[in-house]
Amino acid sequence: MEELAESLKELGEPAYRASQVFKWLHQKKAGSFSEMTDLSKALREKLEAGFAITVMHPEKVLVSGIDGTRKYVFSLKDGNVIESVFMRYHHGNSVCISSQVGCRMGCRFCASTIGGCVRSLTASEMLWEVYRIEKDTGEHVSNVVIMGSGEPLDNYEEMVRFLRLVTDKNGQDMSARNITVSTCGLTPGIRKLSEEGIPVTLALSLHAPTQELREQIMPIAKAYPLREVLDACKVYWQKTGRRLSFEYSVGKGVNDSMENADRLAKLLSGMHGHVNLIPINPVKETGYRQPGREAVEAFRDRLLSHGINVTIRREMGRDISSACGQLRRSHLNDHASGTD
Ligand code: SAH
Repeated sequence: MEELAESLKELGEPAYRASQVFKWLHQKKAGSFSEMTDLSKALREKLEAGFAITVMHPEKVLVSGIDGTRKYVFSLKDGNVIESVFMRYHHGNSVCISSQVGCRMGCRFCASTIGGCVRSLTASEMLWEVYRIEKDTGEHVSNVVIMGSGEPLDNYEEMVRFLRLVTDKNGQDMSARNITVSTCGLTPGIRKLSEEGIPVTLALSLHAPTQELREQIMPIAKAYPLREVLDACKVYWQKTGRRLSFEYSVGKGVNDSMENADRLAKLLSGMHGHVNLIPINPVKETGYRQPGREAVEAFRDRLLSHGINVTIRREMGRDISSACGQLRRSHLNDHASGTD
């Protein structure tokens, strides 16, 4: 709003125009200045000449016949593509957004990281993942999880700008409590985020109870040791009062032993967190496999027996299933081979 006011002032416009334009952009989700009908034609033309509104178009939308989950592939202005997912829950509609085109963190089982990180998304692009899906479905989006492709804390400034805009009272007015930022554990970013005054839920991708195993699954763990990451999470919880979330993607024969469950319970005792078990979604290139349902349930029960708060992630849109980053990859492959 302040930035808009500044720009409009330069155009010789009164301060209240900023609020008008802001609402057009962030409440009505205008895709062009010509839609802003309560502004004078002269001002609309000036805005059109001097500014651009980021808009994105869906290249592909897959709709689940089971639960209404919708997976989107959006094309960006520079030709890159990203994916976002719309999910309906009893507590409201949620959108899972990407924060980068690809990812450079290198987690072994993840499809998003295979081609590396092409670039980070701007705050506007992240906003438009939410806005465009609202326009497309005609339904209000009350929750956002930053769990699509990319590492949000590797795109810190734009991610925080997105958080400020999406929670703005004059715009989407989303409650910070309804937003989850998922990270592979970039310690400095976690500490910085705890100071922003935006108490979003922090989800740590843990995936292993020991430093050694974590390094095998997530190369980034070498740079940010487990102990330090957990300390930063504790600070986050103390500063924001938000209960922590720990994601644990379970791979067959990788991290699914009872011994690992025992270690995990010990590691997290006193952390006031909730563990989310995600049976690994197999990605052809990675070789990781999903343990059977029973093995995942046994792992969960073992954690429960230690008093750990744990659930198995419900799979949404099973019939249009694809792992994090796979939809984008299949889209790129189709284009490369000219079959789309
Ligand atoms: N960079 C962020 C967001 C990544 S995606 C992070 O690391 O948290 C959100 C979660 O899905 C992460 O926990 C990630 O490790 C996990 N994930 C990615 N690909 C997966 C797959 N094929 N199967 C199961 N979980 C996966």
